Amino acid sequence: MSQEPLARDAQVAAFRTAVLEKLTYAVGKDPEHAFDHDWFEAIALAARDHMVDHWMDHTRQIYRKSQKRVYYLSLEFLIGRLLYDSLSNLGLLDIAREAMTGLDVDLERIRLLEPDAALGNGGLGRLAACFMESMSTLGIAAHGYGIRYEHGLFRQAVVDGWQQEQTENWLDFGNPWEFERAEVIYPISFGGSVETRHDESGQPRQVWWPAETVRAVAYDTPVVGWRGASVNTLRLWRARALEELHLERFNAGDHLGAVAEVARAESISRVLYPADSTEAGQELRLRQEYFFVSASLQDLLRRHLNMNPTLLNLHEKAAIQLNDTHPSIAVAELMRLLVDQHELPWDTAWQLTVDTLAYTNHTLLPEALETWSVGLMERMLPRHMQIIYLINAFHIDALRAKGIHDFDVLRAVSLIEEDNGRRVRMGNLAFLGSHSVNGVSGLHTKLMRSTVFAELHKLYPERINNKTNGITFRRWLYQANPPLTRMLVEALGPEVLDDPEKHLRRLEPFADKPAFRKAFAQQRLHSKKALANLIQERLGITVDPEAMFDVQVKRIHEYKRQLLNLLHTVALYQAIRAEPGTHWAPRVKIFAGKAAASYHQAKLIIKLANDIARVVNNDPTVRGLLKVVFLPNYNVSLAESIIPAADLSEQISTAGYEASGTSNMKFGLHGALTIGTLDGANVEMCEQVGAEHMFIFGLTSQQVEARKRSGDFGASSAIGASYRLNDVLQAIRGGVFSPDDPARYVGLIDSLVPYDRFLVCADFDAYWEAQRRVEELWHDPQQWWRSAVLNTARMGWFSSDRTIREYAGEIWNALE
Ligand SMILES: *Cc1c(COP(=O)(O)O)cnc(C)c1O
Repeated sequence: MSQEPLARDAQVAAFRTAVLEKLTYAVGKDPEHAFDHDWFEAIALAARDHMVDHWMDHTRQIYRKSQKRVYYLSLEFLIGRLLYDSLSNLGLLDIAREAMTGLDVDLERIRLLEPDAALGNGGLGRLAACFMESMSTLGIAAHGYGIRYEHGLFRQAVVDGWQQEQTENWLDFGNPWEFERAEVIYPISFGGSVETRHDESGQPRQVWWPAETVRAVAYDTPVVGWRGASVNTLRLWRARALEELHLERFNAGDHLGAVAEVARAESISRVLYPADSTEAGQELRLRQEYFFVSASLQDLLRRHLNMNPTLLNLHEKAAIQLNDTHPSIAVAELMRLLVDQHELPWDTAWQLTVDTLAYTNHTLLPEALETWSVGLMERMLPRHMQIIYLINAFHIDALRAKGIHDFDVLRAVSLIEEDNGRRVRMGNLAFLGSHSVNGVSGLHTKLMRSTVFAELHKLYPERINNKTNGITFRRWLYQANPPLTRMLVEALGPEVLDDPEKHLRRLEPFADKPAFRKAFAQQRLHSKKALANLIQERLGITVDPEAMFDVQVKRIHEYKRQLLNLLHTVALYQAIRAEPGTHWAPRVKIFAGKAAASYHQAKLIIKLANDIARVVNNDPTVRGLLKVVFLPNYNVSLAESIIPAADLSEQISTAGYEASGTSNMKFGLHGALTIGTLDGANVEMCEQVGAEHMFIFGLTSQQVEARKRSGDFGASSAIGASYRLNDVLQAIRGGVFSPDDPARYVGLIDSLVPYDRFLVCADFDAYWEAQRRVEELWHDPQQWWRSAVLNTARMGWFSSDRTIREYAGEIWNALE
């Protein structure tokens, strides 16, 4: 007998002992009386111990080698559950399962108790979480910096078809993954005034006298890479008042006033802004942004000075990546710290700032490009406003010196927008203050160069580059779909787990093996049955796992065009009723997604989905050929259940609007076929997978741009040319799906004709035709499953390991 089983038994026993010890001494419970939640905590703490060992080793190594550090600043980290993530990356998942079975505790049941850490809205926050995991896997010395929101993204309930937002309390039972660092505290100041003083040598120095100061306290979560490769730190900041209670005021009898100050300070890390791709533009948001940026920069400068005698080599030892414009105040804050606190000359500080910072842009939507009114900036961050003016003055002077006097050019590249009241353009600030500005897919990057940053791009033609997004396969394949993962290991060997980018392609020949295709379809059916059960449990709707699962799950946004999918749903419903004899492919249309609380139109679209679902699901003439399901509270865990069960992935945004998309990659990895527009990373998926294995339709981004320029979105001509579209719109408008309130959708439908900004009508017929191609292929299972296997085989390039390697090589210079 080999030693392997013995070693394994010992590991199982050791893990069991560790869990029992945690349960007794850390949780304080007797195994006899422990609740499931106590077990969860004990298991998490036992797993965390394993990470801590690696963590300290890794940290010591970074110090010893004086390795360059990467700082990833993001206002959002959409983490999800961590138990399986940690156990699986530590190679302990099966061991833990066995250890717990020995104690009569079902690990799978315990897993479901962990709340989703939803410190983000959608794709941008999830990208940050994937990147953290990939950086640990690749051995990059990385620190994530963000805010430890007490309440993550709201919980979505659907009541009578309408979205209701409920407070998310992910910290109610504590968080076993984090370490509070009560000693890591930085002061963060706001308001007040700036005084010019002169130092001994007569040099003018600006002194900021803030009106208000709060404390940032660090909370660290270890992030372990695949096979425990290395462990990095996600450091999240919590806001605390300088003094817990204003004792003087309290003693003077002002009990409310005494706590009001505390409440104001702590509101900074109270709740995540639930707006996705649209700017709330509120004062608290700017306070949040500055709070976490300042704490993070103070922290990393301190770390640098612990290791180096000077800040002059900062750019050689640190790379700071700004995830979107949210942290872009970092440009002014780093300048302030270098010039005012560390007394570097302006030009030196500027060079260091530009050489250290890099900026990722995530959206071209004009309403999502952050600007702050000069008035607010002067009130909240007076010294930063001075610095921004100065950066702008030097910048404009330099251009004039180069002979650029064109008023339109200067206006376009200025940091100050003069048109709508004076506002600071944070995107331009981030651009100027960074040596690299990247988009997140080929098309998005191209459009950045020709639209939002066209003038800046002409001045700095080297600065814009592309880094197409990716996803971590550990969470999105190995954890989300163990049966498929096992199939891949059997077919390709275990090395596919370590380097899927290299080995997944070897799956291609299996697409032609009928037995493999059959097994592939079988594992999908397994996931579909599980999802059907979940739908039954949560919504009481019965769906047939053999039907095509046609899925659109993502934030609800007009540009993502859930409305287009709903119009198709209604068209299909009407067609099935009109031609019951036709050989329709049975389908389940599955929707999920949250709408920003203040986004009226998006919430109405949720209601429409639910209204359509009620009518379709209760119409006996449809004979179960069509079911419509809206699953509430979309989050990472729900995504992990839905995506492996999808046959068809809906990626149908108006071309030019989706910067990248990442759920498109998740679906493709599981072998779902994509119906989509040539938008975001769909374009690259098309190149990798082959257009013949996807269903591409619709206007291209150039055609969309042309329509936008002409001011005619072509809704009325599209409706005039399509009796089908016209019927659908009339039915919705006329109250067929809202008999209780027949006028509910009149406004929604009538707004399309003059101003169909997202070209729902213009693309409708092409979408309908593409859906017929889908149906045709579905009726040919051999070809369908062949394409499905090829989708999985060709998705390796979309690993976030590839993306991170590109960042590390081309932006951070952080490859060992
Ligand atoms: C991947 C993911 C997203 C991003 O989805 P897109 O369709 O690319 O917008 C959003 N939310 C969750 C929970 C995700 O897992």
